[in-house]
Amino acid sequence: MHWLFDFDLTLYGHDEFEVLDSLDRNITRFLMTRFRLSEPAADVLRHELWEKYRTTLNGLRALHGVRPEEYFDFIHSGENLLVPRCSAEKHALLQTLPGAKWVFTNARRDWAERGLRAMGIAECFDGLFDVEYFGWNSKPDPQVYAKLERQLDAHPDELILLDDRPANLATARSRGWRTVLVHPDAKTQRVECDLKIAHVLELQGQWMPLRSH
Ligand SMILES: [Mg+2]
Repeated sequence: MHWLFDFDLTLYGHDEFEVLDSLDRNITRFLMTRFRLSEPAADVLRHELWEKYRTTLNGLRALHGVRPEEYFDFIHSGENLLVPRCSAEKHALLQTLPGAKWVFTNARRDWAERGLRAMGIAECFDGLFDVEYFGWNSKPDPQVYAKLERQLDAHPDELILLDDRPANLATARSRGWRTVLVHPDAKTQRVECDLKIAHVLELQGQWMPLRSH
């Protein structure tokens, strides 16, 4: 069994949204610098790219040929970046889950690793698959999931994806993976998945039925 955890707003929740917000402010700063935009204009551009291309990076590469390394080096630097809180509860939860545990993120490795260390859960994972590993391709592109299935040499039935974005889960579900929506409004979202929880810690006591038979 393989547990695949998205990082942002999944391994740390919406209750720590300020972490992602600190990264988003760096993305806005990147756009201000690169395109000589005011902060409000850069914010608008960031939202537009994210909406249309799924990630800001996808849009910047498609429209402006921005190199991913340059983009991530910029947005992952600076002293204003926040990290999630240390969580003994998350550590305990992860230790109880049977099978392999991986991080499967559209971010670059260094951002997720910094957050895992801050939460005190880095040692709970067998490894991390980031956007660079997939040739800068990202969820929900099916090619990314196919590469992961080959890498883990796993039957889809053995794979469980936890993610806060329904679109990322939809691709996984269409391939036969088990899916868990992690979102404060999960219960009211009209998304097909095997389990809906408001926060990753709710997995405790609810993960048993997800096991493959
Ligand atoms: Mg996420």
